[in-house]
Amino acid sequence: SGKFFVGGNWKCNGTKDSITKLVSDLNSAKLESDVGILQPLFFNPYVVVAPPFVYLDQVTSSLTDRIEVSAQNSWIGKGGAFTGEISVEQLKDIGCKWVILGHSERRHVIGEDDQFIGKKAAFALNEGLGVIACIGELLEEREAGKTFDVCFQQLKAFADVVPSWDNIVIAYEPVWAIGTGKVATPQQAQEVHVAVRDWLKKNVSEEVASKTRIIYGGSVNGSNCGELAKEEDIDGFLVGGASLKGPEFATIVNSVT
Ligand code: 13P
Repeated sequence: SGKFFVGGNWKCNGTKDSITKLVSDLNSAKLESDVGILQPLFFNPYVVVAPPFVYLDQVTSSLTDRIEVSAQNSWIGKGGAFTGEISVEQLKDIGCKWVILGHSERRHVIGEDDQFIGKKAAFALNEGLGVIACIGELLEEREAGKTFDVCFQQLKAFADVVPSWDNIVIAYEPVWAIGTGKVATPQQAQEVHVAVRDWLKKNVSEEVASKTRIIYGGSVNGSNCGELAKEEDIDGFLVGGASLKGPEFATIVNSVT
């Protein structure tokens, strides 16, 4: 379903020095997107990295343009008297093209709810940013058989307000798999991706269901990405820890099938 999409979510990690090194490793990494002649254009992966706000400008100005830059959050509306927030306009001003919204750490650690996240997504999309919209269940929700219910409810909060699905990538990130080393099996991920696509088909449109990329996140690394990437409905990855290592992140990007 569209171009294989890999995002690196650096979360709250890095220093000026470590990020300079990471950018230089990424700039010299060999990505499938460079192969060109051997690789039909369709297979070229789409690559995005999301540094912490304070390094966004450094990264947008030093990273080669084959990799786009995303923020990890954005404010719900226009800028102004909102201490500590960063507006969509400011993100666009420094060359940022994407924003990650609804990440489980913002939902469960910071306490953002579905409506707040939905409004942020609608605002960012209306202003021309791409949105990486995250959904995913907690371990206890999975164990209670509520995985689909939880994912559909989070999805509906986006669907209810977004102006269009053209610039949305859905990231399915089961919370129990994030930062735990406990990756979902390819079957577990595929099962949810199919259900999400089916939900889009029934509740949005057949076209959106077939075009929207659904990527997987949660303990993806250089060794498990290959098996996951083989699944029909896994259109890429959102990578946390392993995206802090340039060569490993390149391996994940290059797992495009
Ligand atoms: P890890 O890859 O570190 O598990 O994090 C996944 C994630 O939350 C990406 O947004």
